[in-house]
Amino acid sequence: MYIDTHGGRWFKGNLHTHTSRSDGRISPEDCAALYRSRGYDFLSFTDHWKLSDTRRTADGLLLLSGAEYDFGRDVREGIFHVVAVGCGSDPGVTRQDGPRTCIDKIHEAGGLADLAHPAWSMNTVEQLLPLTDADYTEIFNSTSDLPRNCRPDSSLTVDLLAARGIFWKTAAVDDAHWYDGDECRSYIWVRADECSPDALLAAIRKGDFCSSQGPRPEVTLLRGDDGKPAKIRVDVPEEDRAAAIVYHTDAVWTGHRSDSAKDPGTPLTRGEFALTGRETFVRVEVIDRDGRRAWAQTTRVSS
Ligand SMILES: [Zn+2]
Ligand SMILES: [Zn+2]
Repeated sequence: MYIDTHGGRWFKGNLHTHTSRSDGRISPEDCAALYRSRGYDFLSFTDHWKLSDTRRTADGLLLLSGAEYDFGRDVREGIFHVVAVGCGSDPGVTRQDGPRTCIDKIHEAGGLADLAHPAWSMNTVEQLLPLTDADYTEIFNSTSDLPRNCRPDSSLTVDLLAARGIFWKTAAVDDAHWYDGDECRSYIWVRADECSPDALLAAIRKGDFCSSQGPRPEVTLLRGDDGKPAKIRVDVPEEDRAAAIVYHTDAVWTGHRSDSAKDPGTPLTRGEFALTGRETFVRVEVIDRDGRRAWAQTTRVSS
């Protein structure tokens, strides 16, 4: 947990994790101890087709109930992995359901639905359009990175949907299986008054969370005298050692897409992006000196 400059409390967690209950390499007990030792406040065991419990470990880690459900084997017909988090009861998903019914059942059970790793699954925008009432999708999935799957980044999919007016919330997750580098790497910070299931789920539904591997950017939309959106300002704590701030939009050509540190020894602590009037959204990413990234939620800047 950390407290920001406005007194906001932010809790750190990973919402997609596999253990030896399915195809993960370590036991739930060892996994919980590992994440706790790395400063995590909450974690969800999301083993394939096996729902885990909500409980708190003796050393204070909050475990949110979870499971992962997969449908389809062929990219042309669609491969969909849906992760449930925080269900109050078993959603009763079956292999015949498909992703649409699966999301509905997770919602009926009071949980969050995550449309997992769309880039790795090679989901098209058309395949995803009927599923964007899932509470969030994964902008980055650690286990989909090198050395195995090598397509961890779903940010283009998120931006293509935003260009169609669908501002999907995004989370970075580990989806840890191997524990040889896919663990304790990509996570979310959730802003909430307390680290309880109800408070975390409510904050995630509102979009009060951001994704990171290290940096903690604060994104502010500044308005001009006419009240219209004029600028995006990004502040990053000096100790986060930011090297670059990137402004992704749907205005395809722009002379200024990023800010960079002037010299390698001086961290970037502020960046600004002046809106041209042609973009409908801005999505900020921050990259630190070690290549670790942070992803803010997409900001809508025009209707
Ligand atoms: Zn999956
Ligand atoms: Zn998974």
